[in-house]
Amino acid sequence: MKSPDELTALFRAAGRKVTAQRQCIFRALQGDVTHPTAELVHAKASAEMETISLKTVYQTLHELAALGEIAALDLGTGTTRFDPNVEGRHHHLVCRQCGKVRDLHADFSTLSVPPGAEEGYEVGEAEVVFRGRCAECRRRRPGTRRAGTGRTGAGRVAARS
Ligand SMILES: [Zn+2]
Ligand SMILES: [Zn+2]
Repeated sequence: MKSPDELTALFRAAGRKVTAQRQCIFRALQGDVTHPTAELVHAKASAEMETISLKTVYQTLHELAALGEIAALDLGTGTTRFDPNVEGRHHHLVCRQCGKVRDLHADFSTLSVPPGAEEGYEVGEAEVVFRGRCAECRRRRPGTRRAGTGRTGAGRVAARS
């Protein structure tokens, strides 16, 4: 993700309005590794600037995603998560109990679609999601949040061409 100043220039060049509220949202996203929901971005930004509405946060996040400056991810946690780390290819660890998401840097370049299983797709790169339980949830007594959650992470691979 570009710096708040670079994003301001980019938005202006694209003929978009850049308000103080939007710049505050840019700052809130900077270096955030938690893959926040729009609500969490709103909580963080409005702690600095009370006048920021959730609607402004939604609009700004979707414009940033449309410009490719952040990624809007559906990782199966029930809410869209926003990732300012779009420079480096990476994968994700998802806690199936609390929904916490972290970047996973690992080389899965040997992962491939078996010959004949392409279904006619021209297959691009794979994004791997490992599901399991985060350190905090593992410390808690099992089943205190949601019952019936597994302990091991079956991976999900989403292919994009
Ligand atoms: Zn957790
Ligand atoms: Zn990420």
